[in-house]
Amino acid sequence: RSGGEKFEFQAEVSRLMDIIINSLYSNKDIFLRELISNASDALDKIRFLALTDKEVLGEGDNTKLEIQIKLDKEKKTLSIRDRGVGMTKEDLIKNLGTIAKSGTSAFMEKMQTGGDLNLIGQFGVGFYSVYLVADYVEVISKHNDDKQYVWESKADGAFAISEDTWNEPLGRGTEIKLHLRDEATEYLDEFKLKDLVKKYSEFINFPIYLWASKEVDVEVPNNEDESSDEDDTLDSETSTSDDEDKDEDADEEEGEKSKTKTVKETVYDWEVLNDIKAIWLRSPKEITEEEYVKFYHSIAKDFSEEKPAAWSHFTAEGDVEFKALLFVPPKAPQDLYESYYNANKSNIKLFVRRVFISDEFDDLLPKYLNFLKGLVDSDTLPLNVSREMLQQHSSLKTIKKKLIRKALDMIRRIADQDPDEFKGIDKDTEKKSEDDEKKGQYAKFWNEFGKSIKLGIVEDADNRIRLAKLLRFESTKSDGKLASLDQYISRMKPGQKNIFYITGTSKELLEKSPFLERLTKKNYEVIFFTDPVDEYLMQYLMDYEDKQFQNVSKEGLKLGKDSKNKDISESFKDLTKWWKTVLSSENVDSVKISNRLDQTPCIVVTSKYGWSANMERIMQSQTL
Ligand code: ADP
Ligand code: MG
Repeated sequence: RSGGEKFEFQAEVSRLMDIIINSLYSNKDIFLRELISNASDALDKIRFLALTDKEVLGEGDNTKLEIQIKLDKEKKTLSIRDRGVGMTKEDLIKNLGTIAKSGTSAFMEKMQTGGDLNLIGQFGVGFYSVYLVADYVEVISKHNDDKQYVWESKADGAFAISEDTWNEPLGRGTEIKLHLRDEATEYLDEFKLKDLVKKYSEFINFPIYLWASKEVDVEVPNNEDESSDEDDTLDSETSTSDDEDKDEDADEEEGEKSKTKTVKETVYDWEVLNDIKAIWLRSPKEITEEEYVKFYHSIAKDFSEEKPAAWSHFTAEGDVEFKALLFVPPKAPQDLYESYYNANKSNIKLFVRRVFISDEFDDLLPKYLNFLKGLVDSDTLPLNVSREMLQQHSSLKTIKKKLIRKALDMIRRIADQDPDEFKGIDKDTEKKSEDDEKKGQYAKFWNEFGKSIKLGIVEDADNRIRLAKLLRFESTKSDGKLASLDQYISRMKPGQKNIFYITGTSKELLEKSPFLERLTKKNYEVIFFTDPVDEYLMQYLMDYEDKQFQNVSKEGLKLGKDSKNKDISESFKDLTKWWKTVLSSENVDSVKISNRLDQTPCIVVTSKYGWSANMERIMQSQTL
């Protein structure tokens, strides 16, 4: 169509479209998932607005919150239509072309390094996947605040927008019309579409209809005798009432020529393709593992086919009632810690009585648990208030508290079910889980999200001990594997009062540290902390199971009782005094006789409450 106001795509968007068009990616199916997901988002938005203003829904068909798919084999078009919030002219210009989202470049980078196009939805550019299958796309949209417009593009760097004076009025919502490429006409097949909707859109909370054909038996007048009987039989409905209609038998008995005959006819009607009972409302006992995994993929927009590491589906009762479904993803996103202190985005969707409210609620989980995916659906929260009001609601505190507990339980279960994990001295001899699938899962989790647990210990005083249980590290006795604090305690020497640790840049360097000489000789276990965050961590984690932590490079190291110490200190008093004056009090606090060394003659130790040498190093590198 010529005419319309012309716009150029923002440069990055244009490049993205080129990549998509020229992609040899074989799984082109994903475009349908992205379009249905957008339709569902738009329906969520209008339903949310309707909570505080019923008027926005309008009347008649406009109130039907549904998605319709229609195909036209002759014109080779496929249309996906929703009665969602719609887009104004300005929305069309901004959302579909002129403003690049932050995910645009991130996605292209991923593509260049062999990333999977399947993940497009995660980057907020899913719409453009339409160009995997179409060479010309029209977006017809009607928003309550504007007229109906058509956006159209052949992905040649530009798009056009026109006021829509020729299509049927939509009432409200959006219709995406794909003019399919010749090699993508397989999407004109109803069976294919039904399959795809089942596969990808099982958990969409609005009904999805397909304009589908059906062969039906229709009775038509038997024209052989050119009868002019008034026919009430053309209506296909009469064919179903045959059973009750016993007159037919009578007719035949009379031997009269039948007035009608049955023929096959193709009729079209809307066929619903999905079952919209929300999975989280069902009883966990009735949900299969496969269903949970599929639901995870859909809620996390993670179509990598990997299973989530764990999930927790529960109902909270009491003052605040809610259902929740939480997942630990199999992998951490690359940027999980990059914007840790600025981004406040939890990945938990909030529903109130089945109505989607927001996926940008800050305060459903603390920052350190932002890696979890899932949802909360509460009956206790009010429905007809703004997001801002809801954000202040006192119930949220209770919800958050319970979510944290359940989340930490869920993470702990990964360890409990992992045959490779230490189970405590008693349990170890009882029975070991032999579940191969769970083997090594906790180490994998730790590798991906260990840092989050450490940040949790720093930030969440209430749950510090629970989080400390989840902590893993290497030590002088862990033999290249990961150990836990419980495991450390189980192999403490009799009379040992402290949990020893040392901090530094790498395990290899620390292993050679003179600070370890005597400890290892005396068979004490020392934890290696080599992540910069560990220094912060240890400022907050003072003790565990009544055992104080002791940095072995700091003052105050005690290795059991050593009665000879006092005499030796006495006899070397002159030497230590002399040394102190030589070094001057600017450089050292004190010079002491120590029993921490074995081969090395002397060593610089930091004071108990000061920074460790490693911390000094970290602080220095940060100010540079
Ligand atoms: P995302 O869905 O992650 O935001 P998309 O590329 O899929 O990214 O869509 C871009 C934007 O276009 C959406 O954020 C939305 O504002 C708008 N949009 C797309 N499809 C629809 C639709 N069916 N109804 C209303 N707005 C839509
Ligand atoms: Mg989308």
